[in-house]
Amino acid sequence: MVKEIIKMEPDLQAIKEIQAIGADTLKKCYQCATCSTVCPLSPDEAPFPRKQMILAQWGFKERLINDPAIWLCHQCGDCSKYCPRQANPGEVLAALRLSVIRELMPFKFLNTFYNNLWGFPILFLISLFFILLAAIGTFGGIPNFFNAESFPYGGPSYEIWFLHLPARILMIDVVFIPLTVFVIIILLSAINRIWNFYLDTYKIPQAYRYKVWSILKVYLIPAIAEILNHTRFEKCEANKWRALPHKVLLWAFIILAFTTAIVFVMADILGFHTPWHPLLHPVKWLGNIGGLMLLYGIISIALGRSRAEVEKSVRTSYPDSLLIYLILFIGLTGFGIEIFRSIPSIKNATSLIYLIHLALVFILFLGVAYSKFTHLVFRTTAIVFDLYFKDITQKMS
Ligand code: SF4
Ligand code: SF4
Repeated sequence: MVKEIIKMEPDLQAIKEIQAIGADTLKKCYQCATCSTVCPLSPDEAPFPRKQMILAQWGFKERLINDPAIWLCHQCGDCSKYCPRQANPGEVLAALRLSVIRELMPFKFLNTFYNNLWGFPILFLISLFFILLAAIGTFGGIPNFFNAESFPYGGPSYEIWFLHLPARILMIDVVFIPLTVFVIIILLSAINRIWNFYLDTYKIPQAYRYKVWSILKVYLIPAIAEILNHTRFEKCEANKWRALPHKVLLWAFIILAFTTAIVFVMADILGFHTPWHPLLHPVKWLGNIGGLMLLYGIISIALGRSRAEVEKSVRTSYPDSLLIYLILFIGLTGFGIEIFRSIPSIKNATSLIYLIHLALVFILFLGVAYSKFTHLVFRTTAIVFDLYFKDITQKMS
């Protein structure tokens, strides 16, 4: 009997790409499996990250895209701490997540901008371009960014059907509604693709491939409860400190998203026009509480990371830094608008800070699909799949 020899070729280009976005230590791994043993989140039936290390060493991108385990990792650093070869498996998995985002998303040049320092000025110019275009359209020309009376709170008002919108609100809606729709559409398409990859990889029988609604109803709610409580995050040892600031940051985003939704309905649709008084309006109180939580969370993460870098339990790559500093400056400029507007001698600088704040928020919104921020969506998908898979495995056995 002639045995068939299967020759496997490494994908050198893929290996280089993975190494370039934070996995430069990848080749040090000699497959001892210490990482999978110490990882507090690795399940017995499908342990990680040793397997993912070898797949990455061969550049098997397809296999990595089909693997929910890379999203179940919370980058706690336990594995990196104990790895005898300093191969930094936690950081390699973080790089693999970025590589998967790149594979799944259309317009890959945007991903390149988010993963390289030189890309930031380009992102800033792209965001300014769209904001200025909308500002010129709604303010009837280039607004005066050195005069708080003309931008953003001056300018004409528009009657649109039953809406009565000042230029500022219309400008924000014209920019952010299409951006949000764009991000949602490409994310939904990516989730659909990745979910089908998981179903095929795990060879889920047709009888157990439930409809979307059943999956959401049965598994999404427990997954969200787990994420809100940071149940998995709190199992980490080496970087236990990360759980609390990360949780506070998540809740800050929820509060700020809720506040934005209220402002959208009250100001943009019902016509109770902003700015509201920061001390007298309850929506402002809520927004300020969310803003303070955001600053506490992100500053604690930045300081904790610096300490952890000294102890070598975490390494911070450019995409990590981008997200941290983006969130930090959004928080600072958000409060800056309120502070500058309330002090007459510096009031005119409000317009410029407002413009910078909007540009940074634009980059963050788009980054939900192209930066490290995407883990919010794909980790949730992987946790839902994890709960679903465990459940149907029990039912099938
Ligand atoms: S990453 Fe480190 S701990 Fe994990 S298998 Fe490789 S050498 Fe061992
Ligand atoms: S970083 Fe933490 S969660 Fe991720 S593989 Fe390593 S030990 Fe597991």
